[in-house]
Amino acid sequence: MTAVSDGNRTTVRDSVAGGCLRPLHFRGGRFATIPMKIHEYQAKEILRKYGVPVPGGEMATTLEEADTTAKALFGAGNKVVVVKAQIHAGGRGKGGGVKLAKSLEEADAASKAILGMQLVTHQTGPAGQKVQRLLIEEGSAIDRELYLGLVLDRASAKIVFMASQAGGMEIEEVAAKTPDAIYKEYIEPAVGFQPYQARRLAFKLGLKTAQINQAVAFMTGLYKAFVDTDSTLMEINPFITTKDGKLLALDCKINFDDNAMFRHKDLKELRDLSEEDPLEVEASKFALNYIKLDGTIACMVNGAGLAMATMDIIQYAGGSAANFLDVGGGANQEQIENAFGILLSDPHVKAIFINIFGGILRVDVLAQGVVAAAKKLNVQVPIILRLEGTNVEEGRKILKESGLNFQVGTTMKEAADLAVAAAKGGK
Ligand code: GDP
Ligand code: MN
Repeated sequence: MTAVSDGNRTTVRDSVAGGCLRPLHFRGGRFATIPMKIHEYQAKEILRKYGVPVPGGEMATTLEEADTTAKALFGAGNKVVVVKAQIHAGGRGKGGGVKLAKSLEEADAASKAILGMQLVTHQTGPAGQKVQRLLIEEGSAIDRELYLGLVLDRASAKIVFMASQAGGMEIEEVAAKTPDAIYKEYIEPAVGFQPYQARRLAFKLGLKTAQINQAVAFMTGLYKAFVDTDSTLMEINPFITTKDGKLLALDCKINFDDNAMFRHKDLKELRDLSEEDPLEVEASKFALNYIKLDGTIACMVNGAGLAMATMDIIQYAGGSAANFLDVGGGANQEQIENAFGILLSDPHVKAIFINIFGGILRVDVLAQGVVAAAKKLNVQVPIILRLEGTNVEEGRKILKESGLNFQVGTTMKEAADLAVAAAKGGK
């Protein structure tokens, strides 16, 4: 596998953009969800608890707080203070969201420039993300910028520990162009991460003899934090050596397995809803598996695999999906109404493609739900359906007799063609 640094969301988006299924990180079935993300300052707080060295610093939501922390850090003898935008996306350095300051005036100016800015990085999309929090941190004298990452590898069903000398840059690019520059240790679940594996990675990173034991402790701490918190991804980029030979996590990104958050009440509280797409937040309240995308054809599908296939066939038919939406196996009328509400709140939606395979969810029940919801919400955009499975004939009859203008395709391809035509303004 490659080092994909953005969990399910990137995978789903990539799959659409590439027009092919690449369910690398994808959790199948009705439990498909997106990972829970946290900020760098929160991730560093967790590392600190596991004895992994991180620079000292404080989060700030106002310029006053930022000034107070910067003053304290300079007062404690630091020559450099770093002002860092806290958003749920990487690539902040290149986008102007990380600035080094050599005086309190410089630090205040950096805070002023970054707090409130619309930060655009390769992970935020062109609209960017508004910076609402800063991390004010003691500066480090960097000797080398390395990379450490832990990720759940679904192909081997193991956690893989990755290390690379090519730190500080986009690891996705390193993985794509020079995969050999990423060293990997697969961890046997029954025995856990072994010290010899940590030593092997440390040597491959070209660390000095005196740093090897420090590195082993560092990596062991990361592994423990990863397992204890039910993480799906943990990246230290860069993992640095300082001029005086110390090792530090200069940046840290953690994603948690959202299905495990019921047993981590403390971690659940770290969620920052203002960083998430408002429609996705709304959908999560109804237990809908919804991911917003950039296209014009809204999809309502039961089953994650079918949802992925639907997005692919829309792409194949020349259109683009406005979302991923799995209503689940047991969706009722209320759930279908909720789903319509979410889909219709996206102003880019020009057509709704409902693709259902009736198993547990009977097609006639779905059809009744769709008719009731479409009437109640007075849905104006064209609705295209492809239905198969239990009670499909009754379902089709209900749609036909509803008096509403549904278009029904007999195959997935035919329905996708109808949806693409409808989204383009045809009939
Ligand atoms: P990202 O761009 O979102 O991944 O943010 P990072 O936290 O990784 O910071 C980006 C880059 O800023 C790092 O790769 C470093 O080169 C630089 N940087 C961050 N903190 C420091 C620091 O304390 N000292 C120095 N010299 N550079 C830093
Ligand atoms: Mn980074």
